[in-house]
Amino acid sequence: MDLGLRDKVAVITGGSIGIGLAIGHGLAAEGAHVVVAARDGERAKSAADEIAGRHGVRTLALGVDVATAAGCETIVQEVEKAFGGADILINNAGTGSNETILEAPDDKWQYYWDLHVMAAVRLGRGLAPQMIRRGGGVVLHNCSICATQPLWYEPIYNTTKAALVMFSKNLANELIPHNIRVNAVNLGLTLTPDWVKTATQLTEGTGRTWQDYIQGIADEFAPIKRFASPEEVANFFVFLCSDKATYSVGSTYYVDGGMLKTVT
Ligand code: NDP
Repeated sequence: MDLGLRDKVAVITGGSIGIGLAIGHGLAAEGAHVVVAARDGERAKSAADEIAGRHGVRTLALGVDVATAAGCETIVQEVEKAFGGADILINNAGTGSNETILEAPDDKWQYYWDLHVMAAVRLGRGLAPQMIRRGGGVVLHNCSICATQPLWYEPIYNTTKAALVMFSKNLANELIPHNIRVNAVNLGLTLTPDWVKTATQLTEGTGRTWQDYIQGIADEFAPIKRFASPEEVANFFVFLCSDKATYSVGSTYYVDGGMLKTVT
């Protein structure tokens, strides 16, 4: 099946590892050129090289912090310089939190707001004019099931991801007249290296393996009783970017192995 992605230019924030890297491989396998943006420039470069080497597409690595206006501006300018503009933006960079509302200071709230929401605002505002010039595009927001079904230990994550879902809907309304389709994806448990690291740390010296710990989480939260692989959730992003999803606009899709306990 031809997904119509050949020679599209895709910007993926947080594309150096985990879900973002898997989306990069997924899009590049369809012939898209990939921009990997993350703070650790060296890791971004080796991810970009890996993608280029495996799929024969052009890639660009940018060592930027998308939680800052300057980092977002650099992406907009460098993509213009290297490729003449972007066709696809995947706002994927993000991270979990751990706090109580009574103890968390303002600056922690501010950081997550900048990372999860303002990055999407700034990159949407900066890259949409390029997409309009190129005849249209796709913007996807990697939110989380926590936007709807909060985990108790991360209120800042839950709140900022919920805001990102609402932003996605508003951006979709504003950009569809320009043939830019905007959607959000709410993932459930996805087995990235970060989960493995956390599980390894939490089980060290306990007699349990990290695999045991991960299975316990899956059994507790996901009716499918396993984590997703980054590749299997990346497939969904690739589909939404493609010409096969041209009527998908302004929606929020769950890819969560049945974890959401309600109907929406
Ligand atoms: P990882 O921690 O594996 O990767 C995060 C990526 O984002 C890295 O490339 C990291 O690179 C980059 N990043 C983090 N902060 C910044 C920043 N300020 N500026 C630029 N890049 C940044 O994350 P996952 O792959 O697990 O998650 C990706 C997205 O999916 C996140 O938004 C997460 O909330 C969401 N998600 C994940 C789930 C899961 O179970 N894994 C479930 C639901 C949603 P660097 O550190 O070099 O900046």
